[in-house]
Amino acid sequence: MNMQEPRKTLEYDVLVIGGGIAGGESAINLANLGYKVLLVEKDLSIGGKMILLSKVFPTLDCAACITTPKVSEIARHPNITIFTGTETRKITKKGEHRFEVDILQKPRYVHIEDCTGCQLCEEACPVSVTDEYQYGLVGRKAAFIPFSIASPRVAAIDIENCTLCGACERVCPTNCIDFTMTEEEFLVKVKAIVVATGFNLFDPLKIPRYGYGKFRNVLTSMQMERQLAPTRPFNTVLRPGDGKLPDNIAYVLCTGSRDKSVGNPICSQICCMYSIKQAQLLMGALPMADITIYYLHIRAFGKGFNEFYVQAQDMGVEFVKGKVGKITEKENGNLILRYEDVEAGTVQEAEHDMVVLSVGVLPNLGISDVFENEKLELDPFNFINQSDMLASPAKTSIEGVFVAGTASGPMDIPDSILSGGAASAETTSYLRRESL
Ligand SMILES: Cc1cc2nc3c(=O)[nH]c(=O)nc-3n(C[C@H](O)[C@H](O)[C@H](O)COP(=O)(O)OP(=O)(O)OC[C@H]3O[C@@H](n4cnc5c(N)ncnc54)[C@H](O)[C@@H]3O)c2cc1C
Ligand code: SF4
Ligand code: SF4
Repeated sequence: MNMQEPRKTLEYDVLVIGGGIAGGESAINLANLGYKVLLVEKDLSIGGKMILLSKVFPTLDCAACITTPKVSEIARHPNITIFTGTETRKITKKGEHRFEVDILQKPRYVHIEDCTGCQLCEEACPVSVTDEYQYGLVGRKAAFIPFSIASPRVAAIDIENCTLCGACERVCPTNCIDFTMTEEEFLVKVKAIVVATGFNLFDPLKIPRYGYGKFRNVLTSMQMERQLAPTRPFNTVLRPGDGKLPDNIAYVLCTGSRDKSVGNPICSQICCMYSIKQAQLLMGALPMADITIYYLHIRAFGKGFNEFYVQAQDMGVEFVKGKVGKITEKENGNLILRYEDVEAGTVQEAEHDMVVLSVGVLPNLGISDVFENEKLELDPFNFINQSDMLASPAKTSIEGVFVAGTASGPMDIPDSILSGGAASAETTSYLRRESL
């Protein structure tokens, strides 16, 4: 960072931290009421996890078709300023309706306003690395557009892996690649804050007996989601081990949820339903495939969810009440699941050619540490504590700081949007108190 340059000061009414569906909903509602909003997103694109999904339960609407218009409305809104690739470093409450926030924007090495998204830099770049947006299923270049429906849909340079060969700069038709870009610090003054930092996924490497990372045909549910999405890495569903079409796929529910031994005793609320959704989508994509879901309980509690579960059973998805103990691999890449058949009280083995681990929802730790002089309290499971959950669900332990979406606990998209709406309503009533 260039230490000579003084940091710039910016002023907005509200800072929204996190550009997923919940933060986006809060930002739009506040902006539509005339408030000036700064939306800070640590990633290169807004849209959160939803923009990377296939279809959504229980309606099977296309996730991208819902997210992209919303994301472009956020991007074009005159009252919303978006900073991507930006971290929140420090938040200090200076008084009623007065917060000071230090943010740091990392260099993208591409001038966003000049990049046309032509991808010539991507084609010219000789460096390939693992693509995090395809959850490791394929590679990407060091000069890259995160994914085709990213917002903004412009290139970035992954400087950690870049060899500075200059090939991208030479082909760029608008000369917008700039290796002299540096980190920029800003001091942001706002009256209220919405924390919408979302969730993390359970890392299945923490359960070595399931063989994730060792057996290539054991995937996570997010990897399967990418294989089913319109912006998918292959044009069909494949076994990563050998590129064959799978025809006998197993799901292991509650991987890393309701499991004290891995430090996460709570239910993730979405895994049963997204697994049932993926099973239905797989039956469409691979009509000859058998799908088996190993479960302990099915939590189909929302509107239309139980009917969606019954629909999957009617379509021929097999549900086995069984606790999977261990997965081993055969020479041909097929997988043997050893499980306790809960109803029969026996230990059984079953062979599948692909296994999907339905990984759970974990808190996204870290944001509470940036609050300096007042404590943002967490609940016993490290999600942001809702200090008045029944009467004002978006309230946190700090007056003027509100929580939206999965930052406060596992929830699906409709509930995240409702929560984003609640956060914007409570923020508005807090801001209106200033003018009384
Ligand atoms: C495999 C899978 C399938 C799913 N399928 C469905 C489905 O079919 N239907 C359904 O209703 N739900 C589904 N869900 C759940 C859905 O993804 C979530 O409900 C939704 O994404 C929650 O939105 P959010 O905005 O709270 O969080 P997120 O999507 O996690 O967004 C949070 C955003 O905040 C950003 N962020 C985090 N920390 C910071 C920080 N410190 N500073 C700045 N930005 C930050 C993140 O980069 C991210 O962009 C699925 C989830 C998974 C894992
Ligand atoms: S300079 Fe870096 S990003 Fe550009 S083409 Fe070379 S390796 Fe790729
Ligand atoms: S950085 Fe240049 S070459 Fe790369 S996508 Fe943008 S305009 Fe095209």
